Amino acid sequence: MQYISTRGGMQPLPYCETLLEGLAPDGGLAVPEVMPTVDGETLERWRALTYPQLATEVLGLFATDIPREDLARMTAAAYEPFPGAVVPLRELDGGLTLVGLSEGPTLAFKDMAMQFLGQVVEYALERKGSVLNILGATSGDTGSAAEHALRGKDRISVFMLSPQGRMSTFQRAQMFSLDDENIHNIAVDGVFDDCQNLVKKLAGDLDFKRTQHLGAVNSINLARITAQVVYYFWAWLRATDAGGWTEVSFTVPSGNFGNILSGFFAKEMGLPIRRLVLAANENNVLDEFFRTGVYRPRSAAQTLATSSPSMDISKASNLERFIFELVGRDAARVVQVWSDLDTQGYFDFTADLTRFVDEFGIVSGTSTHADRLATIRSVYETSGEVIDPHTADGVKVAREYLEPGVPMLVLETAKPEKFAETIHEAIGVELDYAADLREMLEAPQHVTEMADDEAALRAFIEEHALR
Ligand SMILES: *Cc1c(COP(=O)(O)O)cnc(C)c1O
Repeated sequence: MQYISTRGGMQPLPYCETLLEGLAPDGGLAVPEVMPTVDGETLERWRALTYPQLATEVLGLFATDIPREDLARMTAAAYEPFPGAVVPLRELDGGLTLVGLSEGPTLAFKDMAMQFLGQVVEYALERKGSVLNILGATSGDTGSAAEHALRGKDRISVFMLSPQGRMSTFQRAQMFSLDDENIHNIAVDGVFDDCQNLVKKLAGDLDFKRTQHLGAVNSINLARITAQVVYYFWAWLRATDAGGWTEVSFTVPSGNFGNILSGFFAKEMGLPIRRLVLAANENNVLDEFFRTGVYRPRSAAQTLATSSPSMDISKASNLERFIFELVGRDAARVVQVWSDLDTQGYFDFTADLTRFVDEFGIVSGTSTHADRLATIRSVYETSGEVIDPHTADGVKVAREYLEPGVPMLVLETAKPEKFAETIHEAIGVELDYAADLREMLEAPQHVTEMADDEAALRAFIEEHALR
């Protein structure tokens, strides 16, 4: 299996060669040259597999350049340390089922992909005999998932910028309590966009990027997208009975269009998915796109700070991979569409609106702060479950798309403990932290405070980067 760019300007590359790059050299995103497919017989055979075994099968279709036994070792290392079930399913009242994706070390679904990414990036670096210094900016969940997946690795170090004083107490503790030598937390005197701009400046300096072996593990990373495909298969296998060919629907709390894109890949691969329901919060550019056909990203200043903060995104970096399929894999058309976006600030697929549902099964909806609180409350009252604010956005929108006879699976993208204040606001309950979480919250913190200053960051990286 080889990977090509959505904009057509990249020689086909094997899986491992795409992992250490961000964008393709032509500015596009890597996609499989041909989407692998899975037939009904194979699906039935997969019912008996454990999560790591299923991950080996699904990822083996994408990472054909990795020998099977190496892949099996990596998926075991990624998912066996999970304390309980890797992806448990729980039924709620009213015909909904939660798919638990937050059982990993940082209590959010990003662990599912990052745990595998940590394994496979190390593997690719060993094969090449090189090292990687990951430079990223985080507003919370991505940074902690990356750090927990990459801590203690020999060939990788992490430089993670975060806006000083703007993360929750819990998120800060999750990152800053790590004392591994290869983890560098940098609190920048600024907001998230300032952090992001610093990263862009340094990563845009190609000479510095090369000499310092800089890389990224952001949401466009192909290993992350493919690792997320696995749990769509897992959830389908758990929610349906053997021998049937039952269609299920998934609802996905969305921001960067990464998680739901993996569901779209699973559907394209032949998994019987009826609807992929995109749930947005108040920053609902994607809901707007799937309802009207017009995609109009918003600026950082127009992006609201909401109570489902990990979805506060107004420019969905993975959408290009969907558009590539929408235009029949016509790379020249993708280039045109993104050039229109640059010049006019939007693009328009109104003419294709019916295809979004009929051909691709994608529908969408928006949930607001009031909806989120009401949903957390109603789920607590009817099912006794406390759900996190992002999952609540999912449940709210999922209820609008229930169909008789079609199981509705809502992806639980975080645990409520991460967002205790909103939970308290919704149901008046102070969540109890488990002993290991209390320990983490009280542990000494390791962080370097820095001005919003490119030169200071350069000097810091030059001093601490692996070579
Ligand atoms: C990152 C994140 C999302 C959004 O996922 P995308 O892949 O960006 O669409 C939703 N919920 C939580 C808790 C997250 O951390």
